[in-house]
Amino acid sequence: MQKGIAILGSTGSIGTQALQVIAAHHEEFSVEVLTANNNADLLIKQSIEFQPDVVVIGNESKYKYVTEALKNYPVKVFAGGDAINQVVEMEPVDMVLTAMVGYSGLKPTIRAINAGKDVALANKETLVVAGELIIKMVQEKKVQILPVDSEHSAIFQCLVGEAGNKIEKIYLTASGGPFRNYSIEELKNAGFRDALNHPNWDMGEKISIDSASMMNKGLEAIEARWLFGVDPGQIEIVIHPQSVIHSLVQFCDGSLKAQMGVPDMKLPILYALGYPKRVESDFPRFSFTDYPNLTFEQVDTKKFRNLALSFEALHRGGNIPCALNAANEAVVQAFLYKKVKFMEMPDIIEKVINTISFIEKPGIEDLEQTNYESHRLAESHIHLNRN
Ligand code: MG
Repeated sequence: MQKGIAILGSTGSIGTQALQVIAAHHEEFSVEVLTANNNADLLIKQSIEFQPDVVVIGNESKYKYVTEALKNYPVKVFAGGDAINQVVEMEPVDMVLTAMVGYSGLKPTIRAINAGKDVALANKETLVVAGELIIKMVQEKKVQILPVDSEHSAIFQCLVGEAGNKIEKIYLTASGGPFRNYSIEELKNAGFRDALNHPNWDMGEKISIDSASMMNKGLEAIEARWLFGVDPGQIEIVIHPQSVIHSLVQFCDGSLKAQMGVPDMKLPILYALGYPKRVESDFPRFSFTDYPNLTFEQVDTKKFRNLALSFEALHRGGNIPCALNAANEAVVQAFLYKKVKFMEMPDIIEKVINTISFIEKPGIEDLEQTNYESHRLAESHIHLNRN
């Protein structure tokens, strides 16, 4: 029997790779729902190829265009954010892949969990913002949450068969991004073209900036805390430029387990979609001669201050990770529009997480409020920086 998949954010980098995975495994998976925020042309193309039951275009002004293009196909078309939140509940959907960017992933993820759907989580902001709430819901509804992020997929795979065994430490590996060898002076003048190592002006851009600033790793640390139920002090970052070891778990006996493979997102996507089964694939295999040396380095948190700020947010808990995430979304946007410099981003994030009022046990409304206010605070600092 095929597993019915809904892909939220099907036109972005993870979404398009997920569709490649599904195209190569039609006997295992069927596409039931596709949603995109803005890229109507690609959504139409994908809809014709995969013939999902339903598609949603987030940008309502493009509804007519998409409907017209799909009028001869058996595909229902909806538009708007509310529709995205609703379609995850549909009957034929067994699993929801959340591959949209940023805070917007939160609501549909909650709806999917409440509807009893398994979630393949590619939107790390969801757990950063509301990890405690989400994990509680997952346990209550007895659904599975399968990480798609390569590091978390690695840890998840290391933990299969280890139920009840004590984790001592989680090591998240980091490539170090394009600025690993930059000096602080060089970082001050780094522009977004240096940070975006591919010319794709689409969904990949936020995560590219986040990896250049290492905020991506900070968000991943927060994500790991909730996914694997470890304390903040049990999570460590290690730079591993080859990205072959995707992450490691150290157990209470001192033994380390690592998961390895070619750096290709299609692998963790296939694992998440297929879980608990390992699905056969002919994706490229690892070659030892291509990687004669695997190396490791410590992170310089003076250079990559976002990492220190993320750990601070992780330790403080409550609504602070939500504030960190919101401030980061605002500064990344501003950096892309050349309104702030690379090294000003952590300054602004720090101001925001130190100004926002602390809420120890935030509910969804508190998080909405924190998200809104942190964005606003960040915007005002961005504005001040320009004048
Ligand atoms: Mg990752």
